[in-house]
This record gives sequence, C-alpha cells and structure tokens, in this order.
Amino acid sequence: MDIAEALRELAGNLWWSWHTNAIALFRDLDPDLWRRVNHNPIAFLAEMPPEQLEQRAVELALESRISYALHRLHEYMQRGQSWGHVHAGPLHATPVAYFSAEFGLHESMPVYSGGLGLLAGDTLKSASDLGIPLVGVGLLYAQGYFNQRLDASGWQQETYPETPTDTLPLQRVVDDSGKPMLISVETRTGNIRAAIWRLPVGRCQLLLLDSDVEGNSPADRELTSRLYGGDSNIRIRQELLLGVGGVRALTALGINPGVLHLNEGHSVFSILEMARTEMAADGIGFQEALSRVKGRTVFTTHTPVDAGHDRFDSGLVDQTIGPLREALHLSHEELMTLGRVNPNDSNELFCMTVLGLKGAWKSNAVSTLHGQVSRHMWQALWPDRSEFDAPIGHITNGVHVASWLAPPMRQIFDAYLRAEWEHAMGKPETWEKIHNIDDGELWEAHQILKTRLVSYVQRQVCAQEAAREESGAACALTQKRLDPSVLTIGFSRRFATYKRASLILDDEQRLERLVSDPDRPIQIIYAGKAHPNDEPGKHLIQRIFRLSRDPRFMGRIVFLEDYDINVARHLVQGADVWLNCPRRPREACGTSGMKAVFNGTLNLAVLDGWWAEAYDGMNGFAIGRGQQHADDSAQDRRDAEALYSTLENEVIPLFYSTNEHGIPDKWTARVKHAIQSLAWRYNAARMVVQYAQECYLPSVGAQASTTTSSA
Ligand SMILES: *Cc1c(COP(=O)(O)O)cnc(C)c1O
Repeated sequence: MDIAEALRELAGNLWWSWHTNAIALFRDLDPDLWRRVNHNPIAFLAEMPPEQLEQRAVELALESRISYALHRLHEYMQRGQSWGHVHAGPLHATPVAYFSAEFGLHESMPVYSGGLGLLAGDTLKSASDLGIPLVGVGLLYAQGYFNQRLDASGWQQETYPETPTDTLPLQRVVDDSGKPMLISVETRTGNIRAAIWRLPVGRCQLLLLDSDVEGNSPADRELTSRLYGGDSNIRIRQELLLGVGGVRALTALGINPGVLHLNEGHSVFSILEMARTEMAADGIGFQEALSRVKGRTVFTTHTPVDAGHDRFDSGLVDQTIGPLREALHLSHEELMTLGRVNPNDSNELFCMTVLGLKGAWKSNAVSTLHGQVSRHMWQALWPDRSEFDAPIGHITNGVHVASWLAPPMRQIFDAYLRAEWEHAMGKPETWEKIHNIDDGELWEAHQILKTRLVSYVQRQVCAQEAAREESGAACALTQKRLDPSVLTIGFSRRFATYKRASLILDDEQRLERLVSDPDRPIQIIYAGKAHPNDEPGKHLIQRIFRLSRDPRFMGRIVFLEDYDINVARHLVQGADVWLNCPRRPREACGTSGMKAVFNGTLNLAVLDGWWAEAYDGMNGFAIGRGQQHADDSAQDRRDAEALYSTLENEVIPLFYSTNEHGIPDKWTARVKHAIQSLAWRYNAARMVVQYAQECYLPSVGAQASTTTSSA
C-alpha cells in the first residue's frame, strides 16, 4: 500500500469527517500540524512531504489502521443493505435535489453561517448513511462567512479569509473536452455564468456554483464571494443563481431530480426554472407545468420572524427574473402574484417564502411549535381555511450523531447498547439499555471531556489575548480559575438579540453570588458571532467581553472568539449544562441542544423550538413554563427570574449532590433519562427517514413504507 496515496483517497471524501478512526490517523501523525491546518486533511498532506509521512506512519505502526480505514470507506461506498436500498428504490434514477444557501459540513469548509447550514450538512451526511439518493445544491463562497476577532474594547472585528479551494475535496466539473463546464442564467443586466464544483460527502454529493469565472461582469464575479454579505440586488442575484443555476447544473450533469427539496426560501426560483423545462419538453402551458413541478417540490420554512423572510421589489424582480418570466409566457404582474399573499395588492413585495408555499405540494416547519407559528403567520394565503387547517406541517430537525458524538461517549454506547445501535437510532428500544450504564463510567467519560474543554478554552483565551497584545491577565486568571470540577454552562450560538445571550447577566449581583459561591460555584463559556450589520448583537458580545474582564467574573465567565463547528464540538461535548434562552416563540427549532444530549450534557432552556416538545419534566431543565408576553421587556424580566431560580433551586443542588463515591448520581440519572427519552427522536436519521416517507417517496408516486422504525 502506498501510504500517501491511501491518505489522499481518504481525504478526498468528507466521509472521513464523521469517522473517528479516520480522523485519528491524521491527528496521530502530527497533532500540532493537524491543529494548525484547521483539521483539513488535504492541507495536512500538502504540508507533510511523502517521505516524512511514510516514516511517521511506520514509526507509529499506522499502516494497518490506514488500510483498515480505507477498507471501511470502500465498504461504506458499496454497502447494499441500507435503508434507502430497501425503501427508497424509486429515488435511485431520480434523486432528491436538496437546495440550500449554506452547508455546514466541517470547520475547514466555511460555506455556512449557522443553524440552517448545519442542518443542511447533517441532512446530507445522514442521507448518505441511509443510502437515500440526494444531491446537495449550493454556492461556493470564495470567502464564506467571516472570521471573528474582538478588539481590546470587545468590539467584533470581521475578516474574510479566502476559502481554501485548492485544499478542499472539490472536483471541478468539466465537459467532454476537459474544459470547465459552465452554466449561465440570463438577467436584464447580462448573463451570470458559473462553474460547477463537486464535493463527495460519503455516498452523496454536493454541487457548488461559483460565479468567479471569465465572461462575468466584475460585480457578478463577486456574486458568490460572501454569504449573506450583500444588499438586495446582490442577494436576489445570488438566489437566482442558486435556484435557476442550480437546476441548470443538475441538467448539465444529466441528473434528473425526482424531488426538489428547498431548504428555506433562498432557492425557490428553482420552481420556475423546472416549470420552464417542463413547458419546453412537453409544449404545455405554465399552469400545467407549475402543477407538475409542485407535485414534486417540498419546501421547508425556518423563520418565525416576519422580517426574516426575503422580499424583493417589483423592479428588482423584473431586472433579475424578467427573462425567465418571458420564457414562461407570464406577464410581470402574473409573476409578482406568485410571490404575494394578497394577489390583488400591487404594493406587496415579492416574497420568496410565498412562492415556496405556493409552489410546493408539501411545506413544513421545523418543530411542533414552529408549525403552529408558521400556520398562524401564513394563514392569509388560504383565506377559506382556518389557521388550524393551513397546509404547513412540521418535521422536527435532528442532528447527525456521528459528527457530534465524542469518542468516549461512543465507547460507552458501543459497550452498553446493542451492537447495531448506530443503524437503529430511530427506535426507542435502541436506547433502553442506557440505564445499565455504570454511573462512575459515565461520569468519568464526562470529566475527560470537560477537562479537554477547559484546557481548550484556556489555550484559546491565552492565544486571543496575545493576539490583542494585552497583558495576559485574563489568560493567567483563566488558567487559575476555570476549573473542570465546577458546574460549567455552555452558551454558543449566533448573537441575534432574540436569543438573549445576556439573560443570565440580568442581575449582576445575583450572578456574582452564583459564580463565586465557595462551595457550589458555576462558570460560563460563551461563543458566537453577531451578523456584521447587527449593532445590538455586537453590543451584547461587548458586554460579555467586559464582564469577562471584570474582577468579579474574570476566569469564570469566558468569551471564546470565532464560533464555528470546531468550537461548537468542544462546547457541546464538554459542558455540563447547555443554556438556551430565546424569546419564545422565535427559535424555530435549535439543534445545538440536541448535540449536547448525545454527549451527556443537560439542557437548560426556554420551552421554545424543539425543547417545547422535548422536555418531559425530568430530561433536562426548563426556564419558565412556555409563557409569552406582548411586551418584550416584561417577558425578559420574567424569564430572567425563572432562569435564576431554576439554577439556584434545581440545577446547582442536583449537580453538587454526590453519593458516597463522589459521583453526582442524581445528575447522571437525569443524563441517562435525557439520552433515553431524546436520542431516538432528535437525530438526523429519524428526520431524513421522515422526509423520505412523508415527502420524497410520495413526490415520485411511490408508496411510503410503513415501518418508521428501521432507521
Ligand atoms: C449546531 C450549530 C448551530 C445551530 O445551533 P442552534 O442551537 O440552532 O443555535 C450554529 N452554529 C454552529 C457552528 C453549530 O454547530
């Protein structure tokens, strides 16, 4: 076996990123280099000369592990006995095309910003595991989302590093003559061209469009430079490229999608392009074509806040989609109507979500509560139906377990659950044996992870302080005070104000008592980015940064810069408590708390999003009882009080009450109950099977199998 060749093959498919054995190979070869290249195996191999690689592998006796990992990859790629093989046959010739403006697959691929992207990434990986034919369609951002640094005053600074396309497992799609294949979309202000890149994600693939090609205007070359960076004009052109260009890329590759799954409104122009191809192929009119396309389109909405839905004015719509509209033989007003709630209101803007809801036979929200909120929000689209009957269902999100599960927890699952647990995650029975886990063993695994988190945080705080050329006081105090035996609260997410990162800071004196309690202290680790235009979000970060410098809190409240998948992994795996306190009902679902569950971390959360349906009184902790209030500040005050009292009366006493062996056995009992009651449901395999049964298979006219349990 050629070692370098074998490692290159492993690095060429993102499969490695959710297989611990493959990751460990690179890390063991050179832990420092692995960290320095941001866990990117292609960059790693580029930095290590083949002779050195060979020598290290021999020294460490890695050869058999490398060949085993490669064997596992080959076996995975060829596995016939998957769920999809048995149940999703009709999708093999006509796969699902899954459109999303972002995909969060790994920290080395910065084409995501938050939850929407992570969901898309986890969906792709799970579809691959399940053997469900699904092709992702997205944009290749040259700079992706920004990197975050805080200056000495705690103000967020954004930098936009180039996406390292030459060290990602991207294959440029070429035509028969070996030239890069280009697709093109016409607009009133010139054609937008784009190259196509293919990224293997296990057995699935992700197609990414890249507008930085010759022939485009300078402005269009930059169309795919940043994620959510531009004004409406850039945004609608990005969305045109994603939706219309995405369909053209599929066609160019000879992929005939049986289902369009549109993850959020950004890609709904794809419906119009599909209708155009139907009209051209069969000489039918627009209405008939639309109803055909509708019959195989699935739309998922993610935004319970009205202002979060993309809306474009009439001029911009004509400038962008005008040429396609003419090919559909529609008048401008007819087209605008497709994006309006009230067809007769010529002042209404064109709303992407409305086109999604009108153009899909199946629309869904992403949690039970979000389903109710969405039906209420969009009820006016169906004036002759009650809100209750508005045709928006829900499929609650889930997480791709292998991507988030820490190895020590995996070892425990492997030892105590039935052998095939990973292939039967959606069955409640799979998780029953969780109660047999030895408390000491569980606690020890958790302590290992928490200790790892604490040293990671200490290292980062010191490096970040050094980068700001500061004195090193925070570094020293963090090394002294941040303590793996202290109850550790993790909070990391986008710093949108509705997520209320500062709720726990509402009463600083009360917080100070909690943090500096001599017997039962707490510590809080924060991370998260504010959108570059979100001033209030940046003020929140600054406030937390300042508290982390305040002698009362220094070393016990910490802000980690540059939240990404890597930071998220450390935090959800090592914290004791995962805090989530959105202003209900603005959290559509939330997934970071699910990642925490699998790692033995307990949720402390407002009954919003997934937690509103998941909390059973004993599988974590609730903040309040799911009340809402018309007045935000009243709601915030009440929730802050509920947060403090739950911490003081439930969380802290439970955590610090240990048995004669020094183990907090009531806490571990709750952890086990959390896993037993939540793991079977909040995993992405359950979610993707549900999409397959309720949406994909009916779209291609296939009978959905009735066994939900085989995943
Ligand atoms: C999981 C994850 C999210 C989404 O978490 P929420 O709980 O939905 O806020 C966002 N960003 C990263 C990096 C994640 O890993």
